[in-house]
Amino acid sequence: MPELPEVETIRRVITPLLAQHTVTGVEVLCPTVIAHPSADDFCALVTGQTFEGSLRRGKYLRFLMRSGDTLTLHLRMTGGLVVLPCSEPPEKHTRLILGLTGGVALHFSDQRRLGRAWFLPKDTHDSVTGMQNLGPEPFDLPEGYLQNALHASRRAIKEALMDQHIIAGIGNIYADEILYAARIHPCMPCCTLSAEDYTRLSSLIPDRMTYFLAKNAISTEDYQATRGREYRNTPCLLVYNRQGLPCAACGMKIEKRFICGRGSHFCPACQSMPIAKTDRESR
Ligand SMILES: [Zn+2]
Repeated sequence: MPELPEVETIRRVITPLLAQHTVTGVEVLCPTVIAHPSADDFCALVTGQTFEGSLRRGKYLRFLMRSGDTLTLHLRMTGGLVVLPCSEPPEKHTRLILGLTGGVALHFSDQRRLGRAWFLPKDTHDSVTGMQNLGPEPFDLPEGYLQNALHASRRAIKEALMDQHIIAGIGNIYADEILYAARIHPCMPCCTLSAEDYTRLSSLIPDRMTYFLAKNAISTEDYQATRGREYRNTPCLLVYNRQGLPCAACGMKIEKRFICGRGSHFCPACQSMPIAKTDRESR
């Protein structure tokens, strides 16, 4: 967290609260949050800017300023945004505060300090953010794209789904949920998946991401009241973090295994791993 559904929810809630507000001052509480330019230049450039709109690409959130300049944020594992009255003091994990006209301020909090902010003047090539290297959005996968991109790869399908260069926006949680829906074991090497597997995945990826985006929706009032901390998708997850609990389809206990350093959850019956066949085919 936050993955695409959470970032998009934050964008939808926060953008109207910022629109037409001008930045009156910047307080950097943790200098490492500023990825570009330097913290001093960031403060000087952002002050006086007026928020106009926003867009999301993968897990990146980009605010568009009236000047044409852009403020890009990546929330990583624990980042969050909330708009508060100027009189509210920062919380323990607040890393960056933008004071705004109208007596409010945008607070960027991040417990693990991995989130980053970039400010780019208009018409600057944004190679510094990494956004230009993202794969397509889960909702816009061209026909045959996944199979073409992955059929020759020996890496695990779980790892490939989380690769932002292949598809933008899927992380550990939704990769597990998508693979469970597709009945594919997360360790399966991409090169062993059939054409039918890729067709099924290509349709379930947008399907599941649309579902979780809808389930995560929240009103501005509720978001502000909970300071954006609550994730509403937890009760809808069928395998993620459910190790030891029964599979909703077959009753077998959900297992957890580390794949590429990430805790991965799956049903050993519904997502069986045909090891013997895989070994034979790979010789
Ligand atoms: Zn099952």
